[in-house]
Amino acid sequence: MPLKKLVAGNWKMHGLSSDLEEIRVIAAASRDYPEVDVALCLPAILIERAARAVPGFAIGGQDVHHAEKGAHTGCTAAAMLLDAGANLTIVGHSERRDAQRESDAEVQAKARAALECGLNLILCVGESLEAREGGAAVQAVMAQLEGSLPQNVEGEAELAIAYEPIWAIGTGKIPTSVEIREMHTAIRHALEERHGVDGGSVRILYGGSVKASNAGEIFSIADVDGALVGGASLKAADFIPIVAAAAAV
Ligand code: PEP
Repeated sequence: MPLKKLVAGNWKMHGLSSDLEEIRVIAAASRDYPEVDVALCLPAILIERAARAVPGFAIGGQDVHHAEKGAHTGCTAAAMLLDAGANLTIVGHSERRDAQRESDAEVQAKARAALECGLNLILCVGESLEAREGGAAVQAVMAQLEGSLPQNVEGEAELAIAYEPIWAIGTGKIPTSVEIREMHTAIRHALEERHGVDGGSVRILYGGSVKASNAGEIFSIADVDGALVGGASLKAADFIPIVAAAAAV
């Protein structure tokens, strides 16, 4: 049985008080698609205001520190995100793996901290252009998954994996349907081998230049259980048609 689709927006470093109205519009329009889970992952500082503005709508963070608390200037702990009203977070986004030089081990520690605290998780993996062109994309993603996914996590929080080829993020380029299917199938097999039957219930999202015009085709690919959407999640007019496409498959 297909998993319920999840369409999550990643607002990255966008969002001011003046954008709360757009968040309200997105949350209200999402209610027309109860067959899809919709979430917005916002800058940490906007989470509390957004959560108050749209009660019941899923608001997430974009990163979390691996420690419970302590001397980590500028960082945000999982409990702080929850306390602010978030119920999920992204970890391991390629922009952080790259700019903040986050290793797989660090991402794994962050993922564990989030899940153990009760935050649902979107764990990002994805190959470089070099790996894709060199025919090593699946191998690269499998290694990243192996290194970033925590084992034996206690608690009820839900895990989703976002497959985001680095070369497809914000570029307008996307892999072919065959390439997406191949990667999602490989991730599904890895999850099943690692997690047994539970692996089948982990949603695998595609991310990288998803927009209204390509969403229907992407959502129809086997083992694509939703999308992580960057640029096209900032405006309801761009984002809601993607949610509608997820509802239509
Ligand atoms: C992202 O950064 O997670 C992303 C998918 O961005 P975009 O949709 O803009 O490619």
